[in-house]
Amino acid sequence: MLKLTPWMAIGWVLGTYLQLQQEEIWQAKAILLSAVVCLVLCACAWALHKLSLASCFENQLTSPMFRMLSMVSLLTAAAALSLSIVNARCLLQDHRQLVRDIEGQDIRVTGMVASLPMQNTHGVRFKFEVHAARFEETHAPLKLPAWVELNWYDREGGGMGDAIAWGDLHPGDTWQFVVRFKAVHGLRNPGGFDEELWLWAQGVMATGAVRSGKSHSAPQKLSASGSFPISQARQFIRSQIAMTLVSVDPPAGSHAGVIAALVMGDQGAIQHADWDLFRATGVAHLMSISGLHITLWAWLFAKLIGHLWRWTALTGSALCLRWPAPVVSTWGGVSLATLYALFAGWGLPAQRTVLMLWVIVFVQSLGLRWPRICVWALAFWVLVVWDPWALLQAGFWLSFIAVGALMLGTPLHLSLRTKMRTSDPELVQENDAKPLRLNMGTSIWLGFLALAKEQWVVMLALTPLSILFFGQVSGVGILANFIAIPWVTWVVTPVAMLGMLYSPFWQLALILLQPLMGLLEMMAELPGSVWNMPVPPLAIAAVAVLGGLLLLQTWPWAIRCWGILFLLTAFLWQEPRPSHGHFDLWFADVGQGNAVVLRTANHALLYDAGPAYSENSDAGQKVLVPLMSRMGVQLDRLVLSHRDLDHTGGAKAVMEAHPNAEVWSSLETDHPLAKIRPVHACLAGQKWQWDGVQFEFLHPAPTDYQAKSSSNAISCVLRIDAHQEGAQSKGPQQIELKMASALLVGDIEAPQEISLLQRSVLEPVGVLLVPHHGSQTSSTESFIGTVMPQWAVVQSAYRNRYGHPAPKVVERYESMGVKLVASPTCGAAYWQSAQPEKLQCERALRKRYWHYQSH
Ligand SMILES: [Zn+2]
Repeated sequence: MLKLTPWMAIGWVLGTYLQLQQEEIWQAKAILLSAVVCLVLCACAWALHKLSLASCFENQLTSPMFRMLSMVSLLTAAAALSLSIVNARCLLQDHRQLVRDIEGQDIRVTGMVASLPMQNTHGVRFKFEVHAARFEETHAPLKLPAWVELNWYDREGGGMGDAIAWGDLHPGDTWQFVVRFKAVHGLRNPGGFDEELWLWAQGVMATGAVRSGKSHSAPQKLSASGSFPISQARQFIRSQIAMTLVSVDPPAGSHAGVIAALVMGDQGAIQHADWDLFRATGVAHLMSISGLHITLWAWLFAKLIGHLWRWTALTGSALCLRWPAPVVSTWGGVSLATLYALFAGWGLPAQRTVLMLWVIVFVQSLGLRWPRICVWALAFWVLVVWDPWALLQAGFWLSFIAVGALMLGTPLHLSLRTKMRTSDPELVQENDAKPLRLNMGTSIWLGFLALAKEQWVVMLALTPLSILFFGQVSGVGILANFIAIPWVTWVVTPVAMLGMLYSPFWQLALILLQPLMGLLEMMAELPGSVWNMPVPPLAIAAVAVLGGLLLLQTWPWAIRCWGILFLLTAFLWQEPRPSHGHFDLWFADVGQGNAVVLRTANHALLYDAGPAYSENSDAGQKVLVPLMSRMGVQLDRLVLSHRDLDHTGGAKAVMEAHPNAEVWSSLETDHPLAKIRPVHACLAGQKWQWDGVQFEFLHPAPTDYQAKSSSNAISCVLRIDAHQEGAQSKGPQQIELKMASALLVGDIEAPQEISLLQRSVLEPVGVLLVPHHGSQTSSTESFIGTVMPQWAVVQSAYRNRYGHPAPKVVERYESMGVKLVASPTCGAAYWQSAQPEKLQCERALRKRYWHYQSH
């Protein structure tokens, strides 16, 4: 029977994978049915197993066949069981209906602050345990999910200032707030970060904003308690770090925030400039307490404890005899890493890594002599049982491969040490301190070699994954990581941790950090820091990952060489592009703002760069740069319609990632972006052609610039037409060609629409970017009537405060027979001139049960 367990594990993972493809959660009946199917299949498997053993079939062909069938039944049974269990879990945790019913209403909630409040530029964010809730207006009680995530934003001119009140916000305190809730809703772009999955996996069903304006009763602290002691300790340490470091360093240009991030995972403390630097050099992952971080820490703790233990043996203690060093070092290492992960915020990636490490340690200490790959597989299975949604998340695979690479690659120092021991067997037994001291130098050197090897191994294993998930390999990043990972993990972080015992260590950590920051600054200046490459399909990516793993084995090079070949497949993959004379458009989901990626056979253009979300995050680095690099797009031109922040917020990040892109815009000449790169003014009548596709600016005219009107009024309006050569012929074909064109209009309003109509430059198009996010001030009837698009796309945020798109405008388009989609319900939209009648919504194309549902 034991032989069959791998089949059951595989069946379980398969079932979980199938469950993750569901569009809806199963209802109770289907769950029960699946459980019954599992029982029946188990019985079948047992019967088939007995049949295969029956003497009448002995030594016949049928016996292996029965065994095979028995295995298949068992595998299917495990899949059915996991389908029913994961669906049952989903059904139990799905409280989204509770939230959908009360969106936008004021709710008075009482409960406990359940996490360390994390500060960002706009306010603080924290987990809240709801004890009671009622409607503010009617005082009627209501039911809410037990855990919610609250944001407390800083209102401008809020009198006393919310920031002062935050100071009083401690984990374990009971507060009363008036809150407005929102269902979980994230941006949806192909291959982009799935925030809705991320929050679902953590059981967060609602986010809320604390109402603190004058018209609402102020937030009230009711009592304090000793609950959530770890979070309280973290808050204490965070204030200590701030006090120690800010008083020494001038806050501007100080890297004090980095120390806070390393000790306790408070990434909000890192300054904007530092984030930019970390991103540019590809070491940003070091600042979040990731799987790699914790794995390396466990490894380091284990080594340290192992050395200490052996040293106690040299001093003649009997401890080493009672508990052998390898056992103590692994248990100790993983325990300390767990403590560190707890203290660093116990985020989902940390939990997953710690669980994986414990499984490995547990198997080792049971004395089971399993092949390492089996232990790794077991850790994988346990993790999938515990957190099924991990299967779809990049972070899980990165830490899983990192753990595997450290486990499967033979540590170099071990093999060297074994060699040394065999040549000098007395070295360890010698009770004299002298030979030990002599070997200090060698020991450090061996340690260094081991570090270099581990690092190389982890990086080699992670490279194909990096292409698969992010479409990026950073040239400078490999070098920067080679230096930054050991320096941060093994020098700066340990010293910073010691600061918790004696605060001057924090200052020392800050001093140790300086040379690294200097070096990173130099590296960021190097050209070609990031290589973008298109993301290959899953099958090719899987081959590449296999290639990476093959290279790590200790097999003969004749076999390992194949690994290089497998790796290459991912590097050589080319994303299919539109044919000559055609183009396609990705209306990216960037929230409240515009951003449209346009590709022709050999060129690419980005129309607007989306909004800035906070001081540290914008649509450029969060959505557009990753999206374009996944598609293998190198921009030739960036058009910024006008200066408003919902159109230029991500421009800086895009310009940095695409150094060869020309910038065309209506920006004034002294705009900060014009200092990065010269900006060409867009003017009505400018035309160009790429690969048979015609581009023309229709607005603004020179007189519009002189009129010094609002920024919206000088939005660059761009018309794009597919294969113009054949357009001379009249009749139905010409109409079809008109459908193969697009109009991108920025935030123009009614007067500009009228001016375009008067100049009679407007013609019917296949797809229209709805002016000004569907505001009431645009989309006049005559404008829609003339442009008559097949599709109209609104780019706006979910429940945005402007009420875009205005219901009247939506109705106007629909009454005129135009199909309208809006980004909150569509996600990113894909349209191609070769098939103008079709428009694909990312939300419809890849709908899963954890995604936002409007009903
Ligand atoms: Zn706008």
